[in-house]
Amino acid sequence: MAGIYIHIPFCRKACHYCNFHFSTSKKLHQAYVDALIKEISLKKDKLKQLPAEGGFDKGIKSLYFGGGTPSQLPPDELKRITDSLRCHFGWDNDIEFTLEANPDDISAEVLNAWRDMGVNRLSLGIQSFKEKDLKYLGRQHNAALAERAINLARDTGYNNINIDLIYGIPEQTTKDWEENLEMFISLNLQHLSAYCLTVEPRTPLHVLINKEKKNKPSEQQAVRHFEILLKVAHANNMIHYEISNFCFENYYSKHNLGYWQRKPYLGFGASAHSFYAQMRSWNVANTSVYIKNIAEGNTFSEEEQLDEKTRYNEYVLTALRTLWGCDMDYVKNIFDSRFYNYLVKQSGKYLEQGLLSNTNHFLVLTDKGKLFADGISADLFMVD
Ligand code: SF4
Repeated sequence: MAGIYIHIPFCRKACHYCNFHFSTSKKLHQAYVDALIKEISLKKDKLKQLPAEGGFDKGIKSLYFGGGTPSQLPPDELKRITDSLRCHFGWDNDIEFTLEANPDDISAEVLNAWRDMGVNRLSLGIQSFKEKDLKYLGRQHNAALAERAINLARDTGYNNINIDLIYGIPEQTTKDWEENLEMFISLNLQHLSAYCLTVEPRTPLHVLINKEKKNKPSEQQAVRHFEILLKVAHANNMIHYEISNFCFENYYSKHNLGYWQRKPYLGFGASAHSFYAQMRSWNVANTSVYIKNIAEGNTFSEEEQLDEKTRYNEYVLTALRTLWGCDMDYVKNIFDSRFYNYLVKQSGKYLEQGLLSNTNHFLVLTDKGKLFADGISADLFMVD
C-alpha cells in the first residue's frame, strides 16, 4: 500500500512546545505550492526508472497533508497540489485522504472545500479541552473553539475524525485529563492520538522552564495519565494499536499503518522524508532553501540506501510500538541469523519481567511494557 505525505510548513503562531519545521509567514504560500508541484513531477519521473515504479505503479492508497498546519493554506492552493497528484499518480477509489487542521482555521466554507477536493478524514489539533492547558502549551485556539470545530466538522458530513490530545501537562490534574478523555468519548469520534508532553531542546517551552516561568512536566504524572488513558480505552472498547494511537473498529489510520508496516511512501515538501526500494531520502528542512533549490534546479534532498542493520533496527522500532508487535519469524527469515539470535537474547529479560509477551512468535509490549517502549526498543537495537 503506497502512501503520499505532503508537508505544509506554515502555522499561525508558534506553540511553546513545538520543534517541527514551520514558518508563521504567509508570504511564501504560493511559491511553496509551485515548488511542491515541481517536486511531484520530478519524483514521478525518477520513479519511472524503477521496477514497478518503486511500488507506486498501482495508485495511491493514502494521502496525508501534515505540518505545520495544512489548514493555513487557502483551499485553492491545496487544490492545486491535489490536482497535480491526481495527474501524476493514480488514486485508489478507496483512498484515505487525511488533512490536519487547527480549530482556529475551521469554518463551514473550508470544510466543504476540503471535502470537495477529496478529504475524507480530518485530524484536528485539539490538544486539550481545558483553557489552562491550552495556555500552557501556547496554543492559538481556546476550549470553546475546539468543541465548535469538532461539531462543525461532523455537521458538514465528516465521519472519520481524529483528535490529538496531550497529557502530562504540569497544570493538568488527573481530573482534567479524565475529563478530556470523557469529552473525547462523548463526542463519538473515531480516532484519538494521545501524546505525552515532552520538552524538546531549543523550544520556547524549554527556555521558559529554564527561566522558571513555566513548571516542568513530571514523569510520575505522565505515567499516571498514561495509565488512565489505557483504562479509559479498555473500558470503551477502543483499539490501542500503536503506543500513541487509539481507534474504534475499522478506523485505523491507513496512512500511519503504512509507516509502521514499512510500506513505501513518498514525502513532498520541506523536511519531508520518503521510503521506497530499500532507500530513504529526506528533503532540506528549510522552506526558503527548498523553494530556491527547486526553482533553480539544484539538489533539495539527500538519500541513503538502508543497510541490513538499519532495516532491522527500524523494523524493531516501528513494529514493537504496534498492537501486532515484532514478528520473530520475519526477523528470522529476512535478516541474517545474527539478528534473530540477538533479538532472542536481548528480549529474554523483558519477557521474564512481564514487559514483553511472546504470542505465536510475536514479541508484544504488555501494558506495563508500554511505559518503557523507547528503552526496550533501544535495547533490542543492533549497535555494533
Ligand atoms: S500548530 Fe502544530 S506544527 Fe504549528 S507550531 Fe503548533 S504544534 Fe507546531
